[in-house]
Amino acid sequence: AAQTMEQLVSLSKRRGFIFPGSAIYGGLQGTYDYGPLGVELKNNLKLAWWRANVWEREDMEGIDASILMNKLTWRYSGHEETFVDPMVDCKGCKMRWRADQIAGKCPSCGSAELTEPRPFNLMFKTQVGPVPDPESFSYLRPETAQGIFLNFKHVLDSTSRKLPFGIAQMGKSFRNEITPRNFIFRVREFEQMEIEFFVKPGEDEAWHQKWVEDRINWWLSVGLSKDNLVPYHQKANELAHYAKATVDLLYRFPHGLEELEGIANRTDYDLGSHSKDQGSLGLKARVAPNSHSTEKLTYFDAETKQHVVPFVIEPSAGVDRGVLAVLSEAYDEEQVKAAPADRLKPVEEALGTFLKSVSRNEKLTADAKNALLAEGERIAGALGERLASITGLLSMPGAESIEVAKKLRGQVDPVVDEFYRTVLHFKPRLAPIKVAVLPLKKNHPGIVGVAKGIRRQLQSSGSMRVVYDDTGAIGKLYRRQDEIGTPFCVTVDFDTLGDGKDTSSKDTVTVRHRDSMAQERVAISELETYLREKMS
Ligand code: ATP
Repeated sequence: AAQTMEQLVSLSKRRGFIFPGSAIYGGLQGTYDYGPLGVELKNNLKLAWWRANVWEREDMEGIDASILMNKLTWRYSGHEETFVDPMVDCKGCKMRWRADQIAGKCPSCGSAELTEPRPFNLMFKTQVGPVPDPESFSYLRPETAQGIFLNFKHVLDSTSRKLPFGIAQMGKSFRNEITPRNFIFRVREFEQMEIEFFVKPGEDEAWHQKWVEDRINWWLSVGLSKDNLVPYHQKANELAHYAKATVDLLYRFPHGLEELEGIANRTDYDLGSHSKDQGSLGLKARVAPNSHSTEKLTYFDAETKQHVVPFVIEPSAGVDRGVLAVLSEAYDEEQVKAAPADRLKPVEEALGTFLKSVSRNEKLTADAKNALLAEGERIAGALGERLASITGLLSMPGAESIEVAKKLRGQVDPVVDEFYRTVLHFKPRLAPIKVAVLPLKKNHPGIVGVAKGIRRQLQSSGSMRVVYDDTGAIGKLYRRQDEIGTPFCVTVDFDTLGDGKDTSSKDTVTVRHRDSMAQERVAISELETYLREKMS
């Protein structure tokens, strides 16, 4: 797994997983863009979730509701009144912070001179329609859940579902976070994967427990390890006002153990809050009086001939936090073979020179300088094991502005290529690219023809993304695919054509496995079946 966020930020940028948003205009804090590999990874994660929770269950329907909703939604959901964080300003450097996330001191300048905390609503307000009248506004949704509650009747009536059943939805949410930070962990625009599971009152506790288990198992199925995934039962004084019980699934991110998903027992609060004639519903939750709703969001129980307001179990996960967790878990820097001391010595010297020039460099901001020095020290501490992270160090902000970085890179690159590799051990089904087809020689028409043919054929199977890559020597190509987590490389060589020493290998290719680096010969005619079997 990754040890620092820097390793992930740097790999993401270098190889095209995730970029800072609006970079050429100086960025927009709390926004990130998914690049060519990032979008594949994110789509694969979302598809895995949809498959497990909608297709493979018999008690679930999916929807895709609007991001913009009638503003009354947010009054009755409680968000206008309670979706607030306490905000403080630093009187020294004027930075703004969430009071509950700092320990009484400004994290930027260290001053303890802070203003009193004041409430700040996290919803983005936006004008709806051409007339800027003070009433024609709404909010960008801060969660997808409300779209499900407002469609409860629609789904019930159109599908004739019986309790218990759930509605699942994935989509964008927006929160004007006071201090977005930690890469894509806390951003202002993000995606959620949410389920509202409706059950009979009285069955809620058992279903809550069951969902906690299901969700843990799903995260394990996409590659997170048990050691890094920790369920946390919220204490009574930590619960949101609508929740009877909440279990957070915490993940050991590079910056610490933090929430990946929350699984709450929301009782009949939501359906009750959005209903008319609340007095007649026998609600267990305390809700604000609703004078606008035109519906009772109830379920008719045919057995007891009674209308009930279902209880709701809500497993609510962040897609971006999921991507970050999967990426972090998959990341590894590995030694392929031990580098001899005489090869490391020049690198050690070049690293020393680089760090010296960093500490003397007046053009660097204090933040960039400290980050570079800390990372440099970390690598120097165990150079033999961590050599591969120098590549990351050199793509950190500030590093490129230092002339000696080039020299260090010149020393490091050949050693890293020979003795180390960075690898993403994704589950094959999450890998952005499943197979890379590589020609042993890029100018040989026979080899190139066969390789491109294999790529086309595998791609047309429709079940995996397959690429052709001829941008380097074969060893370099393997390392590049390791670094982006491609589980299989297929190499076409002279033996494939029947032109090599081994004529019995005609019409076979080398399949090279990412994790074990083992290679085997497979007949082209069996390749697709072979790969498909290993693709879970
Ligand atoms: P936190 O306490 O970290 O702010 P939360 O408890 O407010 O999170 P929920 O309202 O429970 O979060 O949202 C459900 C899920 O949505 C979270 O578990 C998280 O994965 C994701 N999420 C919430 N806020 C953000 C954000 N600003 N950036 C990325 N993902 C988020």
